Amino acid sequence: MAYPLFFNDGSKFPHTLGKIVCVGRNYAEHAKELNNPIPTEPILFIKPESSAVSLNEDLSIPSSDCHYETEIAILIGSNITSASESEAEASIVGIGLGLDLTRRALQSKLKDKSHPWEVAKCFDGACPLTDFVKIDQFSDLTKLEFSLTINNELKQVGNSGDMLNAIVPLISYMSKYFTLKSGDIILTGTPKGVGEIRSGDLLKLNLMDKVKVSTVVV
Ligand code: ZN
Repeated sequence: MAYPLFFNDGSKFPHTLGKIVCVGRNYAEHAKELNNPIPTEPILFIKPESSAVSLNEDLSIPSSDCHYETEIAILIGSNITSASESEAEASIVGIGLGLDLTRRALQSKLKDKSHPWEVAKCFDGACPLTDFVKIDQFSDLTKLEFSLTINNELKQVGNSGDMLNAIVPLISYMSKYFTLKSGDIILTGTPKGVGEIRSGDLLKLNLMDKVKVSTVVV
């Protein structure tokens, strides 16, 4: 079944989810914590629609080797190819949060062999998503602050102002390589503080009190 997209006011977006276009290492402090060099160009990858699940439900994970990465998620509302920055900005209809779940040990093994890492990042359930807040609720896309707590302990705090590639130029860049369609989602990278999640953990995600969700890992 196609993944339906909702705003937090209960209204349904007219298109179902297409693809999820992601960027790796978009915060310098996160690149450092994994001993990765800071990239000179955005590192792009795509999670399939089948990886999406709602953070309004309990969270199931595939293995003990599963790490969270809390990221700002952008809902795209028009079709854009090689978009200018103003076209990229105009295509944004909503903002939410997502978890780029990653089987970290498996990903490291694949990276060491220079193999693609899809099996570590694209499995069913690898992209838990919140509902979206309409874009008119935000005044400045370069000042979006968000956080993750696990069992009420603060694990990640991020601010879009610290991104190596800011949201609008990033969408413009992505659209040079992939046509972005209405119903596609952009994940914008994770700040430092990534780590493992375990069965029984209580996760709370917050974006400026506009997006607030709690989920339990089962
Ligand atoms: Zn990520």
